[in-house]
Parts: sequence; C-alpha cells; structure tokens
Amino acid sequence: MNFKVSMAFVVCMSFAVLSCVTGGSSPPSLVTVKRTQMHMGTLVSITAVGRTTLEANAAISAGFEEVKRLEQLLSTWIPDSELSRVNAAAGQSAVLVSPETMTVVRKSLQVAEMTEGAFNIAIGPAVDAWNISAEPRLPTSEELAALKPLIDLHEVHTDVWERTIYLQKPGMRIDVGGIGKGYAADQAVLVMKKAGAVAGVVALSGDIKTFGRLPDGVAFPVGIRHPRKDGEILAEIKLQDEAISTAGDYERFFEKNGVRYHHILDPNTLQPARGCQSVSVIAKEGVWADGLDTGIFVLGAKRGMELVEHLADVEAIIVDDAGRLLISSGLRDRVVITSDNPSRKQ
Ligand code: ADP
Ligand code: MG
Repeated sequence: MNFKVSMAFVVCMSFAVLSCVTGGSSPPSLVTVKRTQMHMGTLVSITAVGRTTLEANAAISAGFEEVKRLEQLLSTWIPDSELSRVNAAAGQSAVLVSPETMTVVRKSLQVAEMTEGAFNIAIGPAVDAWNISAEPRLPTSEELAALKPLIDLHEVHTDVWERTIYLQKPGMRIDVGGIGKGYAADQAVLVMKKAGAVAGVVALSGDIKTFGRLPDGVAFPVGIRHPRKDGEILAEIKLQDEAISTAGDYERFFEKNGVRYHHILDPNTLQPARGCQSVSVIAKEGVWADGLDTGIFVLGAKRGMELVEHLADVEAIIVDDAGRLLISSGLRDRVVITSDNPSRKQ
C-alpha cells in the first residue's frame, strides 16, 4: 500500500471508553479497552469489549498483530512485501502471493468493475509521480501522458489457481492504498472475535469496522469530519456490525496558486479527482466500504450516488464539490447532521 504517515483523523469515534464498564442490570460485567498504535502509515485504534480486561487486551493485541502481518504483505513502502515483489517483477514474471494478497487484488478488480474503472489499483506510477504523501510536486502533462499506458487494468493478470499476479508491462505498479486499510480492519475483527472479544471497533484512521455493541447496549457512534472545517464533525451515525470508510480531499493535499491537489487521482486524467470533497461509504465489510469510497470520490457525487442506490447493503454520505451534503435513501433516518454549514441536497 502506498501509505505514508497521515495523522489526520477522517472519522472520529466519539464514544467514551471506560476502563471498566458494568452492564447495568445484565448479570455479566463487561470491560471496554481501547489502544492506539501506528501502522500502515496511520494511527490504528482498536477497541475491544470483553468479559475481562485480560481478554479485551488479548483481542486488541491479536488485532494489531493482524494489521502488522497484512502490512508486511501489502505495503509498497516495504521493499520485500508481496506487492513490492509483484511490482518489481512487472513485465518479467508472475509472482506467487498469499491468499490475502490475492483476495485484496481480486476485490480491487471487482470494485474497478463496479465503478467503471474509477477505482484503479494500477494507478501506482501516477501516485508516485505526484508523490503527495512525501514530497508533493506537479507532474507535467507530458509526464502524465507517458504514464497512461501503465494504468491499464487489463494488464493486471491474476491466476487464482496458481495464486500468482503478473503485471504485463515493465513499469506497472499496483497500489492498494485505496482499499487495503478497510480489508485490514475486517481481518483484524475476525481475529479479535476468535480471541474472545464480544464487541469492538478497528479504526485505521478513517477506515473503520465495528462488531457488536457497547456494554450498555448502544451501537458504536461514529462522527464524520467536516471536509472544510478543521476539527468539526459534520454528521454522526451509529454502527453495528458495519464498516464505514471516508475518502476526502482534505487529508493529504497541497495547494499551489490557490489550487488544491490531493491524493485521489482520476484514472482518466491522472489529475486529482474534482467531483467531491468527501465520500463516506457504509457497508457490511470494510473492504467494500474502503474500495468504494475512493471509487465514488472519482465518479463524482451524482454518478457515485446513483451507484450506491443500485448496490444492496451499501449507503453513502457525500459532500459534493460545492459543499452540498447528499445522503443515500437507506441512511436518511440514521444520520444526525451536527454541522449547519453544508446545504442538504436529496
Ligand atoms: P486513505 O484512507 O489513505 O486516504 P483512500 O481510501 O482515500 O485512502 O484512498 C486514497 C489512496 O488510494 C491514495 O493515497 C492512493 O494510494 C490510492 N489511489 C489514488 N487514486 C486512486 C484510484 N483512482 N483508484 C484506486 N486507488 C487510488
Ligand atoms: Mg478507499
């Protein structure tokens, strides 16, 4: 994944985490523990509800271990990760990968299909040309035009039986930065459940997966950040056994001559996508929420919302390029708008 340190919280969890919470009149007392570490270039917060502090802590540790394990497979910042090896072998040979890497890449290709190519993990060379996460620069149009042949998903070959990935052209690079954190959140939740947690939240910055409820029976409240007002929450929603992911143009960006350049690129132009300020997607699994937030950001508010309305179990809250708020039909009774700024558009 093309992850670089991002301290920005796209979405913030607003529930209070107490070190010990008794479950009111219900007999078993439950504890809620939250810990934060740095992984995948971002702050990872894991909350676990368990029958004992020991159990909650064990589940959290298992969750962090899983995120670290996946980072070793998927990060393109780690030179010998599986994806780095796939990228280094572009134009030369197919590379044997783990089932997890194969799953992320196959699901990325599915999101690409769903979004008519707006989500494109072959975008790697263009992401590197802009280098927004490290030392941002403005690539020339000639430079971007020369990269265009490398951004062709038809030349990403996955062989499920052999479990290999082959990038057909030298110079191609896949980057799962737009979907990998959501997948990692899903996988961390699986190991936390195995470790005995009864409920919890895994939040990799703005990519969040929840399971179960807080000890007092309340679903996990999540706040969505205002894309233009630092520190302000735009809307709140409660989640149970759901994931939410937010893609925004305010997280990693630079400005030059009054123009904002950010980290989500339109595969057609290889320029930062201009149709939205922020896209939050709610789905059952983090991998879909994360892939779709990036893809819908590129599609723009109108086409993006049309897609959401066609997909089962997928909802979205979008702030369009003019700062207007759009909420999908399945969410209208669930979202509490906490900021008075964005004009509401149904
Ligand atoms: P984050 O939560 O890290 O901000 P996003 O889900 O918003 O991630 O995805 C942004 C990342 O996805 C970029 O940093 C880049 O690595 C990658 N990316 C950029 N444009 C695209 C695109 N059109 N399709 C797929 N991935 C992209
Ligand atoms: Mg994403």
